[in-house]
Amino acid sequence: MVVTSNLEKEVKQYEMEDPIGDRPHTAVPGIVHRHRDRCLLMLTNVCAVHCRFCFRKNLLEDNRADFEKSIQYIRDHEELWEVILSGGDPFTFTDHFMELVLKKLKEIPHVKMIRFHTRTPVVYPARVDEKLTTVLENAGQYIVVLHINHVREITPDFCRAVADLQKSGAMLLSQTVLLKGVNDSVENLETLLRGLVEISIKPYYLHHLDPAAGTHHFRISVERGKDIYRQLRQRISGVCIPEYVIDAPGGYGKFPVDMFVKITEKTYQYETPNGQVVTYIDHAS
Ligand code: SF4
Repeated sequence: MVVTSNLEKEVKQYEMEDPIGDRPHTAVPGIVHRHRDRCLLMLTNVCAVHCRFCFRKNLLEDNRADFEKSIQYIRDHEELWEVILSGGDPFTFTDHFMELVLKKLKEIPHVKMIRFHTRTPVVYPARVDEKLTTVLENAGQYIVVLHINHVREITPDFCRAVADLQKSGAMLLSQTVLLKGVNDSVENLETLLRGLVEISIKPYYLHHLDPAAGTHHFRISVERGKDIYRQLRQRISGVCIPEYVIDAPGGYGKFPVDMFVKITEKTYQYETPNGQVVTYIDHAS
């Protein structure tokens, strides 16, 4: 997942620099406002590891977030109920900067929920130390969505970090990317998802791979993904089942894979909430 490969140089024609359409929804540098009641706040381009399949791998090279303008944008938009600090990875902030960001957000009365998207507790659990959890705890209720892809990532150090986050009041969810050669088997995902629930993490999303440039070697077909998901639903408790989604290219947002209706061998269609019918092509080999 993190070791570079020459296969990344084989950029396919269908692959994109901005596969989930962050740019068209960038309100000010640092804010992606795609859905009415929530926005992404992306203040760093640093992560604890650089996943080779990252959906933002081409955008992370160029982060021009403007902290003051971003906070002002959130202040000005009273419909924003939730702010999602996303990647780069917000757990790479210094404690001091984390404290400042949370203080500013907490001063905005309409922001009721703060969510973190992070892979740091998985790959660098030592970062979840007493100082960080105290800063988070002082900010009140919050959600952490952990990016975790394989049962081998549930290590004793990760479990300790999870327990400390829980003690500080975090609601913990997980997101997993379905990756060829890494976790594309029912047995593998079954063990991962059960293992997460056993430590009180609710599986939230299972992502079909986004078409980021140079990631074709990680891609499985939609049909194979659907088959794995069908089997998971038969084998494991509903509390262990995440929503299997495709983040529709072009910035339409995430849709459950079940909404993708097969039209031809490689073509699917889905309907957006405003009634637009969009075609999705499955480019897996
Ligand atoms: S942690 Fe997330 S944002 Fe960072 S490289 Fe991995 S997938 Fe990309």
